[in-house]
Amino acid sequence: MNRMIERSLPDFLSDIIRIPSYSGQESGVARRIEAEMLRVGFDEVRIDRFGNVLGRIGSGPRLIAMDGHIDTVEIGNRDSWDFDPFSGEIRDGYIWGRGASDQKAGIAALVYAGYLMRSFQKELLPEEFTILITGTVSEEDCDGLCWRYLIEKESIRPELCVITEPTDGTIYRGQRGRVEISARMPGISAHGSAPERGVNAITRMADIVTSISDLSGTLPLDEFLGRGSITVSRITSAAPSLCSVPDSCEIYLDRRLTWGETPAAALEQIRALDSTGEMQVEIPEFTAPTHRGFVYPVLKEYPAWKTDPSHPAITAAMDAFESLFERKPEIGRWIFSTNGVAISGIYGIPCIGFGPGREEWAHAPNERVAIDQLYQAALFYAFYPQYYHRQRER
Ligand SMILES: [Zn+2]
Repeated sequence: MNRMIERSLPDFLSDIIRIPSYSGQESGVARRIEAEMLRVGFDEVRIDRFGNVLGRIGSGPRLIAMDGHIDTVEIGNRDSWDFDPFSGEIRDGYIWGRGASDQKAGIAALVYAGYLMRSFQKELLPEEFTILITGTVSEEDCDGLCWRYLIEKESIRPELCVITEPTDGTIYRGQRGRVEISARMPGISAHGSAPERGVNAITRMADIVTSISDLSGTLPLDEFLGRGSITVSRITSAAPSLCSVPDSCEIYLDRRLTWGETPAAALEQIRALDSTGEMQVEIPEFTAPTHRGFVYPVLKEYPAWKTDPSHPAITAAMDAFESLFERKPEIGRWIFSTNGVAISGIYGIPCIGFGPGREEWAHAPNERVAIDQLYQAALFYAFYPQYYHRQRER
């Protein structure tokens, strides 16, 4: 292992864990990452209008992107943590804190992979490539939006993208998609002392909620991505007072889409549960501003994606893995969602996943990442373009 990396990479990760960066509040961590990219010798670094940090190495005509989002979810209940979530403590072979696995380790490893590619450019980076390392924002609230911005507004169009969300030492090549759905059932309010005069919106909606639970096990199955799923994530109601029959009940759904399922069909499926046709069902819009105040309204729909196992992006990843770590990689998929929903799901750019950390530690208390995996990731990213280049020449 390169000395500089051995010393500086864990410290850098620890540093960026100590800078909280909830979605929409990433400016501090973005500036810290920008400074580190400049310090280790990237050719060009900038923060775009959306708020992403973009670091470039090389100037060849072919573009490879490597992506890590730099926002995190909140800490949840502080009492569930055994230590300060923003300590960034380095202990027992791990680095600890919110974002360690999801996914500040990924972006930290990318910055130091950039350092390696820059320092050993002749050996590591084929001349025809440019590497763009993207520290993207607002992923936790609207996965892929950052990349819709990069592709639509900055005209950045890589031939492939390495996604660095946690894969626990394996290579991933897909994930299910998802769509958020809201449904509102009307009722007729009446005095709570005489409920028979009204129509209770909660009671009406209760039948729908039961039907939704029944849907779960019956959704389509894809051999690789798994089965579609659905869960009610929120229920709210409104009434003139707490002593009234409610005249509105609204539910919110998290619907995961497997291969071949579309948001429109998922929406229809919910509409069909209400025989009266009175329930309003829709896909909400995402409209929250980024930390730079950029507003990019989109519907909250995120298509599934998978990259063919024989694609050079995947075979190159397997070759790089095997020769660096001297064992055969396993190929898997994420259970959760990533920026791949836009990069591959919408724009058809092949993606591969390799990232330090474990999916089960994401969004959980006592989050951490193994330092070994952090080093492995940096090495993998630094060597990947070379292996990809060889695959393409075959
Ligand atoms: Zn993530």
